[in-house]
Amino acid sequence: MDKAALLGHPVKQSLSPQVYAALSRLLDREVKYKALDVAPEKLEDAVKKLREEEYAGFNATIPHKAAALKLASTATGEARAIGAANCVKIEGASLKAHNTDAAGFYDALSETGFKARDSRCQIFGAGGAARAVGYALGRAGARHVFIWARKEAKAEALCKDLAGHWPETVFAPGLGGPSGLFVNATPMGLEGYPEKFPVKKLEGCSVVMDLTYGRPTKFLELGNAARARSLGGLSMLVHQAIRNWEFWFGPVGGPGRAQLKSDVMRIKKWR
Ligand code: NAP
Repeated sequence: MDKAALLGHPVKQSLSPQVYAALSRLLDREVKYKALDVAPEKLEDAVKKLREEEYAGFNATIPHKAAALKLASTATGEARAIGAANCVKIEGASLKAHNTDAAGFYDALSETGFKARDSRCQIFGAGGAARAVGYALGRAGARHVFIWARKEAKAEALCKDLAGHWPETVFAPGLGGPSGLFVNATPMGLEGYPEKFPVKKLEGCSVVMDLTYGRPTKFLELGNAARARSLGGLSMLVHQAIRNWEFWFGPVGGPGRAQLKSDVMRIKKWR
């Protein structure tokens, strides 16, 4: 039986074990996946144990994504550019780091019909997920990407960094003019925020996406009120899991990723 794990701190809120159980069933491959709560100072020991127990790989989540990249002996271009690894493959004594946040986000966005090329997009937040979203939008040829965060310096630094990777896209800190896409890449779902939140910026958006998953958020409610297509983070999570699966075990083949993602989402009532 193949084995993989999620290393995070905390992990009890994670839906990943359920997503991999569904994938395992649908792809008819026995994979045992467990979520392990690992404090930052214990990460190296935890990885050593996975290696000894012949795990195929692991996912890294908050707060281990940057450390997972540092631990790896090799890394894909995406992981290096994003500066974080959410997926690591164990190959004997070596660890290969990858990042599937950007691809998972883009797979989910593409299903809405949103055309990123030449678009204007707004991101709220300037952390790891915002970086992956900005990277994906730059790669897809967005024209303008505005990054608004409570710490402006952080948004400025992220814009500078992303512009280095995608010089054809204008990355600018703050709130831009009307955008076609608005992504919430903070964990707050906007609780307690509506009075501060520039609701008008959602008007005219065709897609509003909240990376938070597992609960309806105020942000999505505002998106619906603005008549945008509103999308929670579950679709991205599942797409990302499919990409992780492929990194560890090879192509899913068959009906393809989009169908597989729909099948996973149909399989049970997700919380
Ligand atoms: P992160 O690196 O910690 O960044 C979080 C960002 O949100 C930072 O810019 C932070 O600002 C900001 N923030 C936090 N609390 C805030 C508040 N009360 N008001 C304003 N801004 C606030 O986290 P992350 O990895 O980017 O994750 C962000 C969210 O995306 C999480 O909810 C995570 O679960 C979700 N996510 C979902 C998926 C998926 O597959 N659906 C994948 C990745 C992440 P400061 O820097 O000022 O603290």
